[in-house]
Amino acid sequence: MDYKDIVGHDIVVQSLKRAVKNENINHFYLFEGEEGLGKRTLGRTFAKTLLCEEKNEEPCNQCSSCRKFDHENHPDYLEVDPEKGIIRKGQVEEIIRRMSMSPFQGDRKVFLIDQAHLMNKEAQNAMLKTLEEPPSYIHMILVTSSSKNLLPTIISRGQKIRFHQIPLHFVIEYLVQREGIDQEEAKFLGEFSKGSLGRAVELCHSEDFFELRDWLLELVDSIIRGESWKIFSAVERFTQEKDRVQELLEVMMLWFRDLLVYKATEEMELVINRDKEKLLSEQSFLDFDRINDIIKKIQDTSINIQMNVNYQLSIETMLFNIQEEF
Ligand SMILES: [Zn+2]
Repeated sequence: MDYKDIVGHDIVVQSLKRAVKNENINHFYLFEGEEGLGKRTLGRTFAKTLLCEEKNEEPCNQCSSCRKFDHENHPDYLEVDPEKGIIRKGQVEEIIRRMSMSPFQGDRKVFLIDQAHLMNKEAQNAMLKTLEEPPSYIHMILVTSSSKNLLPTIISRGQKIRFHQIPLHFVIEYLVQREGIDQEEAKFLGEFSKGSLGRAVELCHSEDFFELRDWLLELVDSIIRGESWKIFSAVERFTQEKDRVQELLEVMMLWFRDLLVYKATEEMELVINRDKEKLLSEQSFLDFDRINDIIKKIQDTSINIQMNVNYQLSIETMLFNIQEEF
């Protein structure tokens, strides 16, 4: 793990390196930005740098500390993740307990809490005291995609490091060079992931993402052509894929978004599903209002499912609604 593994966050990397160089390192950092931008990876790299015996801007990757870090057995580093969607007071208490012990290896200890917004109120309150008066050897990195769920008193303690979307060309370049996929596929995944490299890489490794997209687009096409009997078997498949339903809905929304763009401009360059020109052109008889209505319905379905409205019923209603639009 090294800064060279970090893609597209030059400004953040420079500022962290500068802090180390100028020996102006904070005790508490808040890394915030959307999911999948590489916040945790950068947090780990920063932690490794702080623990490195060479004390340079970058980890040396040679010393005993760097090696232990890479083997995930560094005694002065602790990473905490949510358990079943929540970080409980007990987990924070464990951090606090370990914080009170001096470093084993060097002169620093680093703690990283991933998805820190999933700390419940008690956990956050427990954390607060420590953040107010941390022992001098402590460095704490909270990583979050949603800092509004953190207590203002916590937020105000930390140095905020804001992560922005990675420019698309970085994501494409990375996917082509590191993941070895072709340019067109990389372009699609980059745009689909909206600048989230982690997400793009995950989809890259997903065995059936493209197969699933084909299935969905064929389904949409059938429904548009009035083949309503297909809806029932489709609901079944949606039920099998329940864990990734938001991904499926995203694929559908993007499709209709493409249809709008294609109808308005006929420019394939502006379309994300670039390999589907024939299908787009066949469906471009739909008028703009109808397409917008469908997008709205898919969005509503996405929200309903997040709010735990009956899953099967939501999907079924959505698919029938799409059909009624035609
Ligand atoms: Zn080192």
